[in-house]
Amino acid sequence: MKNNYQICKNCVMDTSDPEITFDENGICDFCDNFNNIILNSWDSEGNNYNELMKIAEKIKREGKRKEYDCIIGISGGVDSSYLAYVAKEIMGLRPLMLTVDTGWNLNVANENVHQLLKKLGLDLETVVVNWEEMKDLQLAFLKSQVPYQDTPQDHAIFAGLYNYAAKHRIKYVFTGANYSTEGVKPPQEWTYLNDIKMIKDIHNTFGNIKLKTFPLCGMFKYKLYYRYFKGLKVVHPLNYIKYEKDEVVSLLKEKFGWEEYENKHYENIFTRFYEGYYLPRKFGYDKRKIYFSNLILTNQMSRDEAMEKLKKNPYSEEQAMLDLEYICDKLDIKKAYFIELINGTNKTFRDYKNNAKIIKLAIKLAKIVGIEKRNFRV
Ligand SMILES: [Zn+2]
Repeated sequence: MKNNYQICKNCVMDTSDPEITFDENGICDFCDNFNNIILNSWDSEGNNYNELMKIAEKIKREGKRKEYDCIIGISGGVDSSYLAYVAKEIMGLRPLMLTVDTGWNLNVANENVHQLLKKLGLDLETVVVNWEEMKDLQLAFLKSQVPYQDTPQDHAIFAGLYNYAAKHRIKYVFTGANYSTEGVKPPQEWTYLNDIKMIKDIHNTFGNIKLKTFPLCGMFKYKLYYRYFKGLKVVHPLNYIKYEKDEVVSLLKEKFGWEEYENKHYENIFTRFYEGYYLPRKFGYDKRKIYFSNLILTNQMSRDEAMEKLKKNPYSEEQAMLDLEYICDKLDIKKAYFIELINGTNKTFRDYKNNAKIIKLAIKLAKIVGIEKRNFRV
């Protein structure tokens, strides 16, 4: 732990990430990783269009006798909405769209998805997570006092997609993951990895009912079984073309009547309360620092603008209190109890059974062979 506050001179990451390091010029290791590793392998001007079209041709050939060429998980956010457009209109593919209903999405997100898919003429499959199980896992996480309160939703969305693809033999999974808005990964202390061992331990300790249908998919099933035995392939189309958020938002608005949210991931009530209130108040982690740093590194926002925005609360206290009541209602807990949980002693993944060591090794290997280029602190 560092005693002195320090903020990067280039981006807005700071010592709220306890493991951040700075060089002699005051530039942080996220910037260093982005400039020296990611930029070397990524053409931000989108000159890899031809390569993307080659991939499209291959997928088309292989998908000839199938109903769909690929599958795309859609949330209603910018990245996945744009990805649907790219797959259909630019790559000329027939993607099946899949959404995982965790019970928390705002109407605007659902409206965005429906407008977009209707105009693109795409089919939508919905995986509905059993609400009693979702609720039980979320409550278990709140009781566990770890910072990663969005893991139950994130995991259901991730596992729902990959399990569906494997089960229905859809070989290509497209993801909206991209270097343009996600080149800087959140620090491990803020967002712990997709570790099924920890999820299960937290649920065993604090949960009340069995997770019978909740979508689960561990790192090994995902990285090894699905890829090597089921032949699943993950494609990141947004890294091949120019992707600038402002331009993309205008395109989506113009073509599909798409509505913008105030902040990334704010299409979901639990997530916006978690990122806008719970995480900064309880742990001092402000995820906007990640989002803004990404935009700074890709020249989509100035550092001054980011600093100005960070002075303001992520969302209003008034809205936070309304969301808090909504969440208590939905989770069937009393407001006083929820506040008591928020004020509880903070914990981390280290307080529970976890696969951190083995995942750390796997990521190290992935970095050595060049599959993973982002900066993971494990
Ligand atoms: Zn930096």
